[in-house]
Amino acid sequence: MATKRDYYEVLGVSRNASKEDIRAAFRKLAMQYHPDRVPAEKKKEAEERFKEISEAYAVLSDDQKRAQYDQFGHEGIGARYSYEDIFRGADFTSIFEDLGFGTSIFEEIFGDFGFFGTGRRSSRRTGRGRDLQFDLEISFEEAARGTTKTLVVPRYEVCSTCRGEGTKPGTKKVECSRCRGTGQIKVAQGFFTLTTTCASCQGEGYRIQTPCPTCRGQGREKVERRIEVKVPPGVDTGAHLRLSGEGEAGPTGVRGDLYIVIYVKPHPLFERHDDDIYLELPVSFVTACLGGEVEVPTLNGNVKMKIPPGTQSGKVFRIRGKGFPRLHSAGQGDELVRVIVEVPTALTAEQKKLLRDFAVTLDEASLPLTRSFQEKLRHLFK
Ligand SMILES: [Zn+2]
Ligand SMILES: [Zn+2]
Repeated sequence: MATKRDYYEVLGVSRNASKEDIRAAFRKLAMQYHPDRVPAEKKKEAEERFKEISEAYAVLSDDQKRAQYDQFGHEGIGARYSYEDIFRGADFTSIFEDLGFGTSIFEEIFGDFGFFGTGRRSSRRTGRGRDLQFDLEISFEEAARGTTKTLVVPRYEVCSTCRGEGTKPGTKKVECSRCRGTGQIKVAQGFFTLTTTCASCQGEGYRIQTPCPTCRGQGREKVERRIEVKVPPGVDTGAHLRLSGEGEAGPTGVRGDLYIVIYVKPHPLFERHDDDIYLELPVSFVTACLGGEVEVPTLNGNVKMKIPPGTQSGKVFRIRGKGFPRLHSAGQGDELVRVIVEVPTALTAEQKKLLRDFAVTLDEASLPLTRSFQEKLRHLFK
């Protein structure tokens, strides 16, 4: 076992270096030894140096670990922290982003270690495919009644040629030579021996020599799948429908979910407020005066509605049970009909005369709104 070098020496800083000094020193060395930045023949050496400086930085940039190291040296660190713990919490990401490197170098060098939370690790581990999201536009009536739609969803599925194996049919996977089929690599690090996921085979333990021609070894292929979506009655814009397991297949064949986001097209006549629908209905001035019956459109055909004599413009009538079905409970909303009394236009001379003759017969008793208005006005200036 090689003797472990002093962390301060590794980074080339003094024992009383500030946090900024340590960060700057690591930054400089990371640039120098990044394995992607050295010639191929120096790569192995650079990787070793890179590990060494990363470990030194992880310890010295953390107050607690640095104190432990200052007091007890490498043995103190080894006694208290696992190799993985040494790196936990160390901020490599901002330095690397700063330098324009990805953090994938860590996975290459250290294997599947996961102290960065890059997201790749967890998806590889669970192997679950991506969730998919689609927008679905439906009409106002479809939202009220419910509907079934067929969507064409492009997604990854398990390759039908190789059944997800990734190998050309008739050929076999070969054991990974780096990890000898175990999927894991043991690395000696000074006092530590740690086991990491083999980076050559991503922990699978094998490699594909003759890839499947359909999926090029991926084990998945892109297909356009027709999927039937049942939209329940009562949905509104923004509703999410989750179709479990209809998302993409992951590397291990486990599928994500499919989310359908509903968009309900506006209606030319109706407006929706929760489970009720609103309608503005023009009613003739004569019907409003004398009362009568009018036809009112609803989501399921016309219904007749009584207009009482003397109905004022703006009056709202409620037709029970003609709204939207309640999505999460029994029953229906209502239809609210707002009457707009229509003032006739383009009158003939004769019609105008009739109205003038009619007007002179009116007094306050026939004009309730005028009467109450005048009353309020009198109080105001008393
Ligand atoms: Zn295939
Ligand atoms: Zn391997």
